[in-house]
Amino acid sequence: MNKAEDIIKLLRKHSKKDDELIRKAYAFAEKAHAGQKRYSGEPYFNHIVAVAKSLALLGVNAETVAAGLLHDVLEDAHLSTDQIKKEFGESILFLVEGVTKLGKLKYRGLDRHVESLRKFFIAIAQDVNVVIIKLTDRLHNVSTLEHVPELKRKRIALETLEIYAPIADRLGMWKLKAELEDHSFKYVYPKEYKEIHNILKDRKNASEEYLKKFHKTLAKAMAESGIKHFTLDHRIKHLYSLYQKWLRYNKDIEKIYDVVALRIVVHTIEDCYRVLGIVHKTWRPLPGRIKDYIALPKPNGYQSIHTTIFTGDGGIVEIQIRTKEMHEKAEYGIASHLMYKETSGSNTKEKYTELEKNLSWIEQLIEWQKHVSKTGEYLEHLKMDFFKNQVFVFTPMGDVIDLPEDSSPIDFAYAIHSDIGNHVSGARVNKKMVALNTKLKNGDIVEIITKEGAKPSSKWLDYAKTHMARKHIRVHLQGVGPIKRFFS
Ligand code: MN
Repeated sequence: MNKAEDIIKLLRKHSKKDDELIRKAYAFAEKAHAGQKRYSGEPYFNHIVAVAKSLALLGVNAETVAAGLLHDVLEDAHLSTDQIKKEFGESILFLVEGVTKLGKLKYRGLDRHVESLRKFFIAIAQDVNVVIIKLTDRLHNVSTLEHVPELKRKRIALETLEIYAPIADRLGMWKLKAELEDHSFKYVYPKEYKEIHNILKDRKNASEEYLKKFHKTLAKAMAESGIKHFTLDHRIKHLYSLYQKWLRYNKDIEKIYDVVALRIVVHTIEDCYRVLGIVHKTWRPLPGRIKDYIALPKPNGYQSIHTTIFTGDGGIVEIQIRTKEMHEKAEYGIASHLMYKETSGSNTKEKYTELEKNLSWIEQLIEWQKHVSKTGEYLEHLKMDFFKNQVFVFTPMGDVIDLPEDSSPIDFAYAIHSDIGNHVSGARVNKKMVALNTKLKNGDIVEIITKEGAKPSSKWLDYAKTHMARKHIRVHLQGVGPIKRFFS
């Protein structure tokens, strides 16, 4: 069977037209990537199919899945934007171009710029569907890292941990976030990964035995109480989040009760509370461990009831009770949010206000997108709150530096390093020589030329906008050399 049909099968809802679109994008991408190989030696197109499948599983629309199939044709198959536009139209081209742009951003471990890079990432995407495609693309890449040369592998893993996973987190896509983190964890902190891996292995074996027994008892109690529709499942805390909790608990695994948690998914909120009653009637709850996140959702919008119980044979286990809708929101975040928005009328909107509120800047972005035409020139329109009075510029290596509005190359130089600031002799913006009082604009690529003998002049105080630059310039002009701090 043609694999395009495999992808179509995974779509949540799709018309004949959608199916045609997927088949067409599939054939187009297959041809475009023909003969290309991945590091592992397998056909490049396998990566494309994997990305399209995980997109379909997330529940995004057919257009986004089609864009997923085409996400690498500009960069890796060197096709032109005109070709995509001609075959698939503006809006798919828009998504593909967005993903391609995001691929150019690089994170090289400059910690103080992490947050601005995350924001810039979202902003440059312009559409949350672009972010979702890029995240699933990264998930597949990071899950096949073992084939990638070591240096590149480490960079990709670190970038995933610092940029991609936090973005997935903010989009409420916790399942994706967990997968991104666990794949990267292995390469960024290999020693710690092994340690946690071993702890978990011991725990898992011990847990799985009594979980089976537990399942049975619970299923029986539920049936007796007349709750027919439920699914029982258990989840094992993912490695990276266990690692973080483990550090918080002074490396005492015995104090962490939710390494393995049982999850009960029911139809209605009423059933959630009934199940809580059944559980507490059957097993003794640990005092102080009952958390009602249905009545009081977590700040990130998460809803569930959590309780921890004594299993009666010496074990302690956490139980999470939620509706199917809460479950999907918790797993897929904004993807399920978009899906519900698309498939239902406006009256379900209310249910998502909590999630929306908590997606603050992402929601702002979505709102803002509605007012901006999708045809380019968006950098001029970057006027959301968090970008007000801020510009994002690049180093020639692709690092993002954020500066206040009207900053000059002098500010940029000091933002990189005071030594570079103190020896500026010239600057290039987008490969052209510019005056040192040039005002930098969003997206500019700035290159600083330094000279051994160059030093700050009093004019620079007029050019510099940032406190840091001005401070260093003043110190230099006063001739006191490096700053010394005196405490009294
Ligand atoms: Mn890709």
